[in-house]
Amino acid sequence: MLYAELAELYSRLEKTTLKTLKTRLVAEFLRKVEDPDLLEIIPYLILGKVFPDWDERELGVGEKLLIRAVSMSTGIDAREIENSIKDTGDLGESIALALKRKKQRSFFSQPLKIERVYSTLVKVAETQGERSQDRKLKLLANLFMDAKPEEGKYLARTILGTMRTGVAEGLLRDALGEAFRVDVPLVERAFMLTSDFGHVARIAKLEGNEGLSRVEMQVGKPIRPMLAQQAAGVKDALREMGGEAEFEIKYDGARVQVHKDGDRVIIYSRRLENVTRSIPDVVDQVRAHLKPEKVIVEGELVAVGENGRPRPFQFVLRRFRRKYNIDEMIERIPLELNFFDILYVNGESMIEKTLSDRRRILESVVEEGEGIKLALKLVTGNEEEAERFYREALEMGHEGLMAKRLDSIYEPGNRGKKWLKIKPTMENLDLVIIGAEWGEGRRAHVFASYLLGAYDAERGDFVPVGKVGSGFTDEDLVKFTEMLKPLVMEEHGKEVKIEPKIVVEIAYQEIQKSPKYESGFALRFPRYVSLREDKSPEEADTLDKVAQLYTLQERMRGKKV
Ligand code: ATP
Repeated sequence: MLYAELAELYSRLEKTTLKTLKTRLVAEFLRKVEDPDLLEIIPYLILGKVFPDWDERELGVGEKLLIRAVSMSTGIDAREIENSIKDTGDLGESIALALKRKKQRSFFSQPLKIERVYSTLVKVAETQGERSQDRKLKLLANLFMDAKPEEGKYLARTILGTMRTGVAEGLLRDALGEAFRVDVPLVERAFMLTSDFGHVARIAKLEGNEGLSRVEMQVGKPIRPMLAQQAAGVKDALREMGGEAEFEIKYDGARVQVHKDGDRVIIYSRRLENVTRSIPDVVDQVRAHLKPEKVIVEGELVAVGENGRPRPFQFVLRRFRRKYNIDEMIERIPLELNFFDILYVNGESMIEKTLSDRRRILESVVEEGEGIKLALKLVTGNEEEAERFYREALEMGHEGLMAKRLDSIYEPGNRGKKWLKIKPTMENLDLVIIGAEWGEGRRAHVFASYLLGAYDAERGDFVPVGKVGSGFTDEDLVKFTEMLKPLVMEEHGKEVKIEPKIVVEIAYQEIQKSPKYESGFALRFPRYVSLREDKSPEEADTLDKVAQLYTLQERMRGKKV
């Protein structure tokens, strides 16, 4: 199948903001793919990726190398391509421009096929070791040699992971339903159980609803984690759980999903990235302490300090990011894994079992030891006892408690009320930047404050809930300014309106009811915490969530927690 057809799809997707239209475009494209093997890779390419997030392979190609490859294939100086970014505002556009001006024409130039693009990118990812940069360069230059300008633009965006066509997982799911006339909830279920959109697409096409309903979890493919909502306190949680609950320590670390098949162990992060290589110490412990041959379990990985108290979760993330000198990191940041759930044992799914049953089975398969523990728990219907456990958890330096419904099954990917978190502070919000304001004096060349929006389903648009200017370092401000400049839609004096694309995590002192914004809410003392590159605007928090948290905050105020 021609890559030009895919480039045409990207281009059409970019031209509309209408979700229904985007869904139809993707569905029509999926239907056109005849070869089931090709169909397995198409969903990732549509999302702007080459591999699923949980695949360990990475292209390892940065802007510099990409520009060199384009330079090699066009005969245009790399500096010239780089300089043109100032005018085009985007490397993809600059590459398209370079391809238009191409000086050398190959006699053997042939139309690019999707299959060739994909297999070349796989080769690029698998090229390692000595002189790997040079070999990657050649592979890429060859590809760009045959790319038309439009194709080159989207190739570049795929390679750099900067495709922004507004297609997220939800849209892909709906499009699969439409393309192959299968039930969307069944597609969703298969997504949640396998995280493998390619495989799900294949099954949807070849086996329809029946095939989809037979999809089961597999060791080696991450399952979407079940998530929690926040409760106002222990009492509220008990009421919600029907009078009795399993309370567990809410560890402040990083969630991991551990897959074990004999000696093979794979560990996935909360975002389902394969982090196995960075934590060989944990892998060894898992091999030694998890008894079943084949098993999938979940737990929280915590960094422990000298006194045995937990250290902030950023320490665990430092371990995850490490590629070199891992031994040194093992010494500096020892980890402890606290298991809290079991999803699969020796060919049998556990997720339909109740929490109580799962916990019992978990206890029978985990042998506690150094670095491997079961999450501390208390099953009770007694409020005072639970409050005491909560206080102890906080005194020990943990984040709070989780309350879990005893008779609840494990619902992959769901954030319902079967699991509730209890902690003393309100959770942060992930909001979308919808406007900005130029700074003054020393900050005159950067945007110094940012208007934050939450999606209002009724209006079908983002509405403002606050303006944030604190929590940024000078470097952050420069970075955000660069990132947002191409997204400016309108300018009014010092204020600009920004296309809603960038998601940020925001802490705040409280949510106030306020007539100032059309949302009806305003954040008091908002503070920037982090850039959520892993979230699209569709995945950010909504106005409904803000309203929900406001109610929760008022309930928390009504009692001592
Ligand atoms: P975000 O979406 O902001 O990344 P989250 O949804 O992962 O956060 P929360 O909803 O605040 O996190 O709480 C659930 C998380 O708490 C789990 O994903 C897990 O990482 C962590 N956790 C710690 N201890 C436990 C426990 N005993 N049981 C379940 N989850 C626990």
